[in-house]
Amino acid sequence: MKQEQQKLRKIIHIDMDAFFASIEQRDQPRLRNKPLVVGGSPWSRGVVATCSYEARPYGIHSAMSSYEAYRRCPEAIFIKGNMEKYKEVSREIMNIFHDCTDLVEPLSLDEAYLDVTENHWNIPSATLAAKEIRRMIYQTTGLTASAGVSYNKFLAKAASDYNKPDGLTVITPDRAEAFVKALPIGDFRGVGKVTKRKFDSLGIQTGEGLQQLSEERLVELFHKQGHVFYRQARGLDERPVNPERERKSLGKETTLSQDLLLVQDMLPVIEELLDQVLARLRKDGIRTKCIVLKIKFADFQQITRRSTLEHPSNDHAELLEALRSLLEEGTSGGDPVRLLGVTASEFYGPGEVTGGRGKVYKTVNYEQLRLF
Ligand SMILES: [Mg+2]
Repeated sequence: MKQEQQKLRKIIHIDMDAFFASIEQRDQPRLRNKPLVVGGSPWSRGVVATCSYEARPYGIHSAMSSYEAYRRCPEAIFIKGNMEKYKEVSREIMNIFHDCTDLVEPLSLDEAYLDVTENHWNIPSATLAAKEIRRMIYQTTGLTASAGVSYNKFLAKAASDYNKPDGLTVITPDRAEAFVKALPIGDFRGVGKVTKRKFDSLGIQTGEGLQQLSEERLVELFHKQGHVFYRQARGLDERPVNPERERKSLGKETTLSQDLLLVQDMLPVIEELLDQVLARLRKDGIRTKCIVLKIKFADFQQITRRSTLEHPSNDHAELLEALRSLLEEGTSGGDPVRLLGVTASEFYGPGEVTGGRGKVYKTVNYEQLRLF
């Protein structure tokens, strides 16, 4: 019964491909198609944060010392990286995830589990949802992601690793056994260097070998983790997707079907985005005190402009007026715009804004907003 229930879950694991390196290659044409290492120069004591796919045939990988990377490929380009920029791209990706489902569990800036069993898009197929997410990521950021789709976290993550970069792998219940059998032992959750050596000494290289060991034997060898290995070898994993506790903002953005130059052409888009944001706020009587406009230009440079209101509001006309000023200010340079976004933050709940002047407002947390 438990297993039946578990198989009904639809989990996606999304992992951006060579995240930091891909962002730099996107923004700096001179870095494209070159072995690139982000994270410290070979002369510092830094480690590789990410390297481009062109650097991988040399044996360079994340967490390796930058000096070792240099030794393996002296012609590689080393750059320090720009964490603020990577965080901003991460926010764009996470926004897309939250557009699809509330059950998003980020593992790092560029990786997350999504439970799409029920989703805001009402897409019954997790595979189609994953395709749509990958499409939106590419359209919004110009970057590729790999996705794994399955009925639990372990299989979804193993699946996203299976066909990198720019891959989509689906493991349906009937394919799980064969997939797990062929999976290298190092790809099981909880297998580090020491555990791997132990498995090596037992002659176990894949899931098929792991399946030969009884649960008792595995517990004897690995204590509590033995139970986990036993279950993983059978494609089982009950861990739910744990969403972020607090939601601090709610945003919608869209890549324009063609670049726009004029404020009057962009305003209808802003209005539509604001409508979508307000629809979700109004459902629970939530108001916002801060509205943020994001503009991404055709060259992928982007700016955000924010406006703080005097009182919390969910009034369309009032917020649109604020956005119009921000838009005029933000586009005064006359550069073509490729993407627009509207985000509300600083939430106030129902009953907290009735008193007018002098009233102490309280911020609502995600627990309340979950009702969206
Ligand atoms: Mg990644």
